[in-house]
Amino acid sequence: MRGSLYIISAASGAGKTSLVSKLLEKDSTIKVSVSTTTRACRPGEQEGVNYHFVSVAEFQTLEHQGEFLECAQVFDNFYGTSKAAVENLLSDGKDVILEIDWQGAELVRKLIPEAISIFILPPSLSELERRLTGRGTDSEEVIARRMSAAISEMSHYIEFDYVVINNHFETALNQLHSIFTANRLRTCVQKDNHRSLIQSLLDPTQL
Ligand code: 5GP
Repeated sequence: MRGSLYIISAASGAGKTSLVSKLLEKDSTIKVSVSTTTRACRPGEQEGVNYHFVSVAEFQTLEHQGEFLECAQVFDNFYGTSKAAVENLLSDGKDVILEIDWQGAELVRKLIPEAISIFILPPSLSELERRLTGRGTDSEEVIARRMSAAISEMSHYIEFDYVVINNHFETALNQLHSIFTANRLRTCVQKDNHRSLIQSLLDPTQL
């Protein structure tokens, strides 16, 4: 039983990381792929949990070795998704989330067209700004840059299969989870997961 691949993108500050971490607590068959980045570790972040933090040289070596399913430059840093880690989780039957930007989403969609993509939007620009300021880890200049980058990131929402608006956290969380639930109930997935049940239900000799 192979898992499914999900792409979750959002503008910085939309609440994507908090939603994903609550989703993982709610559903143990969902795992998140830990990306590799050249960005500095923020307070509270942990190596191997939030990211694998590497130097630019180390990142380039991994890229040249073909270790990444996709990689992109976001702001001034490089980010990449480990091909092997994603493959191991999928073949272990886990549903895997890639928390990546729109450029990475575009690359993954080309490689794996069956990947399900979800875009998370904030309820307003003022709320987005409040959330970015509230984080308190970036300078005013960085926040201003991220606000204009956010608008450009959000313009890609139309390329995604689903859109979740993170106004009320619990509602957004339930909506996000329902996408996973519905996907697991698709006929092509159920057919494989319940092969012997379906075979026996359709067997007239069982009457
Ligand atoms: P942050 O530095 O705030 O954690 O992330 C900045 C942006 O990089 C976010 O939009 C995040 O989704 C994106 N990102 C994180 N990991 C990856 C990755 O492996 N690949 C790509 N393409 N984007 C990533």
